[in-house]
Amino acid sequence: MENGTLPAPVPKREYTWRETAAANLPYAAMILLGAATIALGFPRAPWAAAGAVAYGVYGVGGAVWIMIFVCPYCAYYGTRGCPCGYGLVAARLARKGDRECFAPKFKRHIPAIVPLWIIPLAAGVIALVQSFNGWLLGLVGVFAVNSYVLLPLLAQRHSCGDCPQREGCPWMGGKKNAEC
Ligand code: SF4
Repeated sequence: MENGTLPAPVPKREYTWRETAAANLPYAAMILLGAATIALGFPRAPWAAAGAVAYGVYGVGGAVWIMIFVCPYCAYYGTRGCPCGYGLVAARLARKGDRECFAPKFKRHIPAIVPLWIIPLAAGVIALVQSFNGWLLGLVGVFAVNSYVLLPLLAQRHSCGDCPQREGCPWMGGKKNAEC
């Protein structure tokens, strides 16, 4: 037995470095598009460039946050079964946790990164209300499609479909909830 009561699963498949890089593209695109929306939406605001940089730092920090506080409880911690490679990095950042705690940890820590989806959209809408222009509308539209459609769709089809913890995952409507 592994730490906890759940046996260590064998990953259904191991992802190549190319697949891992591809799996990170939608998140990276969201951070770049979000930063661009903040910087370009308020061209005369002195804080716009700093805000864009802060959003980028938040994006990287959010990924590290998940690696430290969620991935140690995942079946794919420390393996190449993690599609986006976080599991391998997590093994260098944090000690392995109890797999039965995955769902509660997920629920507790995912809200820390939810503003990454909201801030650029809110900033873009405010900027458009203040001064409408077509290219900014397009930028906000691309951000919305990538972040709200493409990213979750790829995650569910590509990554979550093979996950041995999907029944306990809140993202997939799982019901298991250990006290952790
Ligand atoms: S599958 Fe998700 S929770 Fe599991 S190690 Fe990878 S990124 Fe972390």
